[in-house]
Amino acid sequence: MDKLSAQQRHANMAAIRSKDTKPEMIVRRGLWSRGFRYRLNHKRLPGHPDLVLRKYRTCIFVNGCFWHGHNVTESQMSDVRGKKDDVIESSECCKIPKTNREFWVAKIRRNKERDKEEQRKLAEMGWHCITVWECELKPSKREETLDSIAFTLNHIWLQDHGAKTIPYSQLEKESENYLKAAEGCE
Ligand SMILES: [Zn+2]
Repeated sequence: MDKLSAQQRHANMAAIRSKDTKPEMIVRRGLWSRGFRYRLNHKRLPGHPDLVLRKYRTCIFVNGCFWHGHNVTESQMSDVRGKKDDVIESSECCKIPKTNREFWVAKIRRNKERDKEEQRKLAEMGWHCITVWECELKPSKREETLDSIAFTLNHIWLQDHGAKTIPYSQLEKESENYLKAAEGCE
């Protein structure tokens, strides 16, 4: 017997749906289904990356376009008082409100600086960082974005571990030795 009223059920479904469509959840499920395994919100790493893939020494940040100022143009401009100041221009997915503009510009700028600083620290610790933007996860772009993350991860792994390429000259020498050895056997 279903004890939930239609209304309750509707509320539950809505809650589940909104949780599932969170950008971070899309990335988690997308990578999991492609065979990647990860840890979540690693508290001891700078910036608390959303996903941590130890095998790939990679941290993934899933960023909201507004809060992290995706694609905003930062230009050095002097204001009326002749003071040098960073000015941020809105982008397609980060529209800075006209009201309280200065407040938002300062806030987004701080967030961007912090992001940069945290990723610099992670790089120093030997981690790779991937930033996934919310706008890259809308339904029309989602699969392409997830495929490209998977591609990048595999590329990183190959660079870190595999692909021990033998220089061509050495390869030539080795095959020469091999031929000589083969001749010696005859
Ligand atoms: Zn964006």
